[in-house]
Amino acid sequence: MKRIVIKVGTHVLTENGSIARERMMALVELIAELKSNGYEVSLVSSGAVAAGYTQLPLDRKEIANRQALAAIGQPLLLKMYQEKFAKFGLLCSQVLFSADVFDSAKHVTHAKVAIDTLLANGVVPIINENDTVSIEELVFGDNDRLSAHVAHYFDAKMLVILSDIDALYDKDPNQHEDARRRAVVNEIREDELSAEHTPNNEFATGGIVTKLQSADFLMKHGREMFLASGFDLSDVRAFLVHGEHRGGTLFS
Ligand code: ADP
Repeated sequence: MKRIVIKVGTHVLTENGSIARERMMALVELIAELKSNGYEVSLVSSGAVAAGYTQLPLDRKEIANRQALAAIGQPLLLKMYQEKFAKFGLLCSQVLFSADVFDSAKHVTHAKVAIDTLLANGVVPIINENDTVSIEELVFGDNDRLSAHVAHYFDAKMLVILSDIDALYDKDPNQHEDARRRAVVNEIREDELSAEHTPNNEFATGGIVTKLQSADFLMKHGREMFLASGFDLSDVRAFLVHGEHRGGTLFS
């Protein structure tokens, strides 16, 4: 079994402030296809705050409001996933972590037993930080770091980040027309890891730097990361299902 973790960010999962149902459906369909191709897939999903906002439009600039929106939205988000996975005859499950779970070997061991058991039974774990009580990723990160830890500690071969950008470029492609895609990256420079954060929109809080930090962490632990578009899943499908590297960046 090839164990992977897929991470999808807020920007991909939301549209005009609510959940982008068609993109969520495309993602669920991809996961179903991957599972029938022998992959064990866990999903790290943002979107709880956006789902909550559709029910109660609190000011999202306030962290306290985002905590409350996450509490409202998390069950709604899971319900949407459950309905979509059910179309493929699949069960999904909710796994919420506090930010410090990876600081404790005991907690990691307990969590891994649960994840292993879910995967062994064909269930898709849908993982998120418990944003209501631990605000780290709400403030900064948008789950890039959480997903790298999930991939490492739960022994996945690869983390797949589905982003609003389709690859890593030699400079920000939204600022520079002549930016060139980097297909394979083996090493990340110190200055790239500490560069200024560049979140692309008001809800995406990670930017490219947290992705590079995640890739660096995984490569140092002998694992891989693949960064590709979450809007158009053809590159990630080609890479994972057909073994063709057409687009996206492989960190290896
Ligand atoms: P996500 O969809 O995962 O939330 P973000 O919006 O947080 O993604 O981060 C991706 C953004 O990072 C891109 O839209 C792009 O504007 C910016 N960026 C800055 N530098 C680069 C680079 N060298 N390669 C790719 N994207 C970059």
